[in-house]
Amino acid sequence: MTRQALLFIWGQWCEASDRGVREIRSPHDGSLIASVPEATLTDALAAIESARFSFDAGLFTSWSYSERAKLVGRIADLLERDAEMIAISESHDTGKRIVEARFDLTDVIAVFRYYAELGANLNGRNVDVGRNEIKSEIVYEPVGVASLIGPWNYPLLQASWKVAPALVAGCSFILKPSELTPSSAIHLIRILDEAGVPKGVANLILGSGAVVGFPLTSDPRVDMVSFTGGLATGKTIMGAAAQTVKKIALELGGKNPNIIFADADLAAAIDNAVTAGFLHSGQVCSAGTRLLVEREIHDQVVSAIVERARAIRLGGPNDQEAQTGPLISQAHRAKVETYIASAIAEGAKLRAGGGRPSEENLRDGWYLEPTVLDECKTEMNCVQDESFGPVITVETFDTEAEAIQLGNDTIYGLSGAVWTSDHDRAQRVARALRHGTIWINDYGPYRPEAEWGGFKASGTGRELGPSGLFEYLEAKHIWTNLNPAKSGWFPETSVGEKP
Ligand code: NAP
Repeated sequence: MTRQALLFIWGQWCEASDRGVREIRSPHDGSLIASVPEATLTDALAAIESARFSFDAGLFTSWSYSERAKLVGRIADLLERDAEMIAISESHDTGKRIVEARFDLTDVIAVFRYYAELGANLNGRNVDVGRNEIKSEIVYEPVGVASLIGPWNYPLLQASWKVAPALVAGCSFILKPSELTPSSAIHLIRILDEAGVPKGVANLILGSGAVVGFPLTSDPRVDMVSFTGGLATGKTIMGAAAQTVKKIALELGGKNPNIIFADADLAAAIDNAVTAGFLHSGQVCSAGTRLLVEREIHDQVVSAIVERARAIRLGGPNDQEAQTGPLISQAHRAKVETYIASAIAEGAKLRAGGGRPSEENLRDGWYLEPTVLDECKTEMNCVQDESFGPVITVETFDTEAEAIQLGNDTIYGLSGAVWTSDHDRAQRVARALRHGTIWINDYGPYRPEAEWGGFKASGTGRELGPSGLFEYLEAKHIWTNLNPAKSGWFPETSVGEKP
């Protein structure tokens, strides 16, 4: 097998220290896409040292915010230049259609442009303490060395939410993409190097989270961990980071209620419900896979969604007719199938899908039919857990209060939607739902300028928007007395002297 130098440490491309490699295989047909180095513990420690050294030596922190913002703008230009190449490689890694990968790249570039602009205008602030001789300033400084760990569903997009603000802030970092989808991160690091990020600031570790995850999240030389992934991994990371009280930002899973009231524009609500549940075969943290429908429109809505689900055409990255793709891996498909089987065993009614497609050209991939499970109960695993597959579960409600109660009856709190033509009700429900993003009469849009993140077990901290930059900054208060004076707090008598 060809060995390639695709780890990036101390500003150099290198192989894994034990020369180990991992095969990256297509979720569409199992074909070999690439062989990449599989980093060892030694490599992870070297990457941490490289980031620490570059930070402590001030290689990047000596730049002004506007200089770093300009660099981030240059990175956006280079991403634009290479967008098609990166979209192709990401569609092969993830199995998603090339059109979807192109949308993702457009969003990635927008994120870099947004943080370039925000960084150019970043200022500290002065606090008026009401005394002319006092200058009280708040300045923002980089947190330090950050481990940036991402998932496989939107590999470069999730990385961009971390890398762009980390660069503007002046952090040094170690980027670790999912072991399943490394290609776009490799390309991003090439671009950072070309754009002029100082050596040692950006480091890339490829490999298994089980091996390199612990040093990246526990080593005392790491100041911060920004993680996007599943809840179980998030809890492990919280524990590892706690030992040295690292700053953490966690973007975890979601079980997102999509609530349709009888007075909604049903054509729009049904169409968006199909997209919310089956886009990227449900492998979306904000997927609207938990459908809550008012009882009087239940039959109409569910029948329409079932019909649409059955008509969805599955296919690989280059299939022009395909509407969605495979699941990421054999293991992941097996997990989703277990959720479907357990829901049926618990009494859910299978109305669409539930099995693997029979087409010859899909047999070698990890495909699963878009599935609709009706008559679900809130306590079912498939309703409560994030199956992260193309599975819409349907529950029914009778009142607004019940819709809110069901929408909040989850440990997660990432996103949700409410469909109604009653503006006041829309506002009431949106305010009452404890999720980080609520869409009213829409599903899915997000903006680089608007904060993204979860309540409850969906995480801690926020990405995107100004908060997404402040995650990588420490606020420091500098108090200057321009006219030094005695404090006068304790009397100036010597020991033994009477006051
Ligand atoms: P995952 O299994 O938790 O893995 C995420 C990343 O963590 C991968 O790079 C993984 O490496 C690494 N990792 C695994 N064990 C680790 C450890 N002990 N210490 C440090 N890192 C470790 O999640 P996933 O299956 O890739 O992604 C799907 C999940 O991401 C879903 O739950 C989804 O909801 C969530 N997600 C959330 C958002 C959001 O904005 N809230 C966005 C996208 C995705 P390996 O790949 O090598 O195991």
